[in-house]
Amino acid sequence: MGFDYLVWLEEVDSTQDVLKSFEFPFGTVVVAKRQRKGRGRQGREWHSQEGGLYFSFLLNSEEFKEVPPLPLVIGLAVCNYLIELGFYPSIKWVNDVYLKGKKVCGVLVEKQKEKLICGVGFNVNQETLPPEAISLYMVDGVKRDLRKTLSSLLDHIDKSLEEFKSSGFSPFKDRIEERLMFLGQEVILMTEPPTVGILKGLSEDGSLILQTSKGDVKVISGDITLRPY
Ligand code: ATP
Repeated sequence: MGFDYLVWLEEVDSTQDVLKSFEFPFGTVVVAKRQRKGRGRQGREWHSQEGGLYFSFLLNSEEFKEVPPLPLVIGLAVCNYLIELGFYPSIKWVNDVYLKGKKVCGVLVEKQKEKLICGVGFNVNQETLPPEAISLYMVDGVKRDLRKTLSSLLDHIDKSLEEFKSSGFSPFKDRIEERLMFLGQEVILMTEPPTVGILKGLSEDGSLILQTSKGDVKVISGDITLRPY
């Protein structure tokens, strides 16, 4: 596949919006030093001050048989990059990567006609972040070159996407489960009313399986947290 076009910008509202608002070829990556209105799922704010990597890339949805597991596949690619550096990341279903119990990276996939706009916010060199977040610098005190970091990350993402395109989600299932946060633990899913259950793992399509008092429940989307005692 390959990411053939790289656009580096100083500051934008959101790299997702740049790819949505202009006609770029598939395979374009837009990166910004800062985002004024970085966002996560459901319009939640993504803190995007200088020092992090904020990028979005454009895929052709027609090349993918399954779209819902994409955030997991991209998240695993980020994990593979982190493992190579000696970190121990985990994946919080469905779109976040954690280090030391705090979020280091978030993935957002949005669809616009045949376009899949995939955004990654990755905390690299920030010295301070909100309490729920962590950067690589905050873990090991190393300041990293963002261009090199991006290039390595994109290599991992490209490799994972190629495999996902040719083989679907099944080869990823076990690898993601190995890194899945809360596996075997009691969690709460923020449905109306909330669903409580033991997180059993992933199904073949990347949805989550919860063992509840009413039997196993397959969850396609939603916010999941550890059930507080
Ligand atoms: P949750 O974190 O509750 O699972 P989510 O997966 O929907 O929610 P996202 O939409 O991926 O979260 O990201 C938005 C949330 O991430 C914000 O509400 C905030 O708590 C957190 N956040 C914002 N900026 C950053 C950042 N730079 N690094 C890590 N976490 C951040």
